[in-house]
Amino acid sequence: MNAGIDVLPMSKTIKKPVLEATGLGKTFNLSRAVGGQRRVVAVDAVNLALCAGSTVALVGESGSGKSTVARLLAQLLPASAGVVRLHGEPVHPRTGRQRRRYVGEVQLLLQDPFASLNPVHTIRYQLTRVLRLHGNRSGRQRVEEQLEELLSTVQLHPASQFLDKYPHELSGGQLQRIAIARTLAASPSVLLLDEPVSMLDVSIRLGILNLLATLKQQQELAILYITHDIASARYFADEILVMYRGHVVEQGPSESVTQHPTHPYTQLLIESAPDPARRGRNAAEVAGIGQGGGAASAATPTGCPFARRCPYAMPVCSTEMPAVSAVDTEGHEVRCWLNTPESANQRRVPLH
Ligand code: SF4
Repeated sequence: MNAGIDVLPMSKTIKKPVLEATGLGKTFNLSRAVGGQRRVVAVDAVNLALCAGSTVALVGESGSGKSTVARLLAQLLPASAGVVRLHGEPVHPRTGRQRRRYVGEVQLLLQDPFASLNPVHTIRYQLTRVLRLHGNRSGRQRVEEQLEELLSTVQLHPASQFLDKYPHELSGGQLQRIAIARTLAASPSVLLLDEPVSMLDVSIRLGILNLLATLKQQQELAILYITHDIASARYFADEILVMYRGHVVEQGPSESVTQHPTHPYTQLLIESAPDPARRGRNAAEVAGIGQGGGAASAATPTGCPFARRCPYAMPVCSTEMPAVSAVDTEGHEVRCWLNTPESANQRRVPLH
């Protein structure tokens, strides 16, 4: 396994992490029938720290491993390597009450609000069930007040209009607000948001992101925001981690990563953002982004995972994984030979 990008120094994050992953890895063993591969490294040595009242965005295309990271943190998948710590304590595979306590603290919000709610139960039933599952023993009158408070928190007024409805009677935006209310019913300290707006109409995405930003501030939530849209990550997150083929290839403060992208893959992600002023094929299409180019692949790759597509690839890129190097003194770091002192001495012989 390759060493991952170091967690930002504590002096940069100020607060202690609520949820922290160190050297997190996941390898899937597949049968020969699946593409002829035996092992697929989906996540390799990822380090991240989620602090109260701040958002870390995990950005990458489909198959880059970002959703697997969320499932590892949510304990839905067993990790192949690494440690997850909640409030500084290592988290082990759990069952029963311990697992319920962890799930209450670390809530996962899924991409598809239509699939995440049970179609045969009313909103009232589904929210009440979560309150009860996570130890709420209040009487019926108090629970009714709490349901109204939850819907008010996600800006669905009046509550009576929504509580007795079934999921199919609500719009996508209303359903995602209900799904958010359901996560809040468990009183979490961490929210893992897996592409929370990608299935919603463009017109309502901003409203949901603004709601999540407000909740982060009001409830001091530590948030992991998973997205393929680096523009929304810049808007919503304090820090960005860019993933490619299971590796974090660049990370740092959102403004710095998006304004001064240093890794060629990050540059291509930014160029792939829709821009009406740009015509024809953009750089991302040329490099295969969005066409499965970033999907995890066979185990034990050598060299930089982006070497096959990188327009700046040098001979060393195919044989040696670049080390992590600092881009600035504010925590912006990158894993690319172009940013190392050695690269200045190399003859840059493009491979493509
Ligand atoms: Fe491109 Fe080499 Fe940098 Fe990888 S290490 S991104 S192949 S220049």
